[in-house]
Amino acid sequence: MKVVLLGTGTSHGIPCIACDCDVCNSPDPHDKRLRCSAYVTSKNNDGTYSHILIDIGPEFRIQAITYKIKAVDAVLLTHSHADHLHGLDDIRIFSHTISSSHLTNPDRGKETEGPGIAIYSNAQSIRDVQERFSYVFRPTQIGGGKPKLRLEEDTVFDAGTPPEFGDLKIMPVPMKHGEIDTTGWLISVCGADGVIHSFAYLTDCSSIPESSIQKIIDNGGIIEHCVIDGLREVPHATHFSYLQAMQAAEKICPVHTWFTHICHLKKHADISAYIHEHLNSFENLSRIVRNGGSVEPAYDGLSFEIN
Ligand SMILES: [Zn+2]
Ligand SMILES: [Zn+2]
Ligand SMILES: [Zn+2]
Repeated sequence: MKVVLLGTGTSHGIPCIACDCDVCNSPDPHDKRLRCSAYVTSKNNDGTYSHILIDIGPEFRIQAITYKIKAVDAVLLTHSHADHLHGLDDIRIFSHTISSSHLTNPDRGKETEGPGIAIYSNAQSIRDVQERFSYVFRPTQIGGGKPKLRLEEDTVFDAGTPPEFGDLKIMPVPMKHGEIDTTGWLISVCGADGVIHSFAYLTDCSSIPESSIQKIIDNGGIIEHCVIDGLREVPHATHFSYLQAMQAAEKICPVHTWFTHICHLKKHADISAYIHEHLNSFENLSRIVRNGGSVEPAYDGLSFEIN
C-alpha cells in the first residue's frame, strides 16, 4: 500500500489566520501544514485498487487536486471535529459510482445508483455526521449535487465479517481525546514475505488505552509507520505533547514514528532537534533509530510504501 499525508497541521493549520509568528512566517515548506488527513491506496492481488481516505478536512478539495486523488472507496473518520470532517461535501464527485473510472465515465452524470461511499467511525461521530450534514440524508435532491454516503459504525470491523477492502485489513483503535472518544486506524497488508506489515494512524488523542496499544501490537505485525498526534512541547488537555507521543510510540515500537496535528509553536526543524535531544530517554525508540528507523515530525506530502 501507499500512504500520502495530505495534511499534518493542527485545527488552525499553519500559517494560522492573522498570526505573525516565526513559524507562520517560516520560508521552510515543511512549516506549511494543511489540516490532518491521509490517503491510502493499495493494488490488490486480483489487480483492482482500494482507495481509502482517513478524515476529510476543510482543505480536502485542495488536497485532492494537489495529490491527484481520482477515487475514494471509503472514509475512515477519526472523529467529528471540524478539522477532520467539514470537507465532506467535496467527496460527492466520487460518491455516485465507486470506481476509479468514475471521472472519465461519460455516463457519470446519470449514475445516481450504487451504495455510496462508506463512512466509518464511532457511534457518536456517525450521529454528528447525520446532524451536521442532514441535507445529505433528506430525499430532496438526486444527482451530483450532494454526496451519497453510507454511514457505518467502526464496530463492523470487529464483527464476524468485517468489510473488505481488497487485500487490506483495517482495525479501529479506540482512543481518548480529552473527554471524547476518537478512533485511530490500523491498516495492514500481508507482505510478499508472508509477514503482516502495518500503518497506524493515531490522531487526535490525549491517551491511548492499554487495550488499544495491545490491539496494535497483537494485530499489526511489523508496524512500519506510525503517524501519531504530537501537538506541541507543553502538555495539552486533548492532544499528546511531543514527549507523550514518544511515550506511546515507545510501547508500539514502530520502525518510523511521525508526529502529526502539529501547531505553530515550533518550526519543523526545531521539533526534529527536540526529538533527538530527548531520544535517549526512550530505550526502544533509541534502539530503533540506531537500526535505521526514525522519529520525526511529519510534513504535508510525506509518502511511504508498505508492501
Ligand atoms: Zn484535530
Ligand atoms: Zn503563528
Ligand atoms: Zn479533534
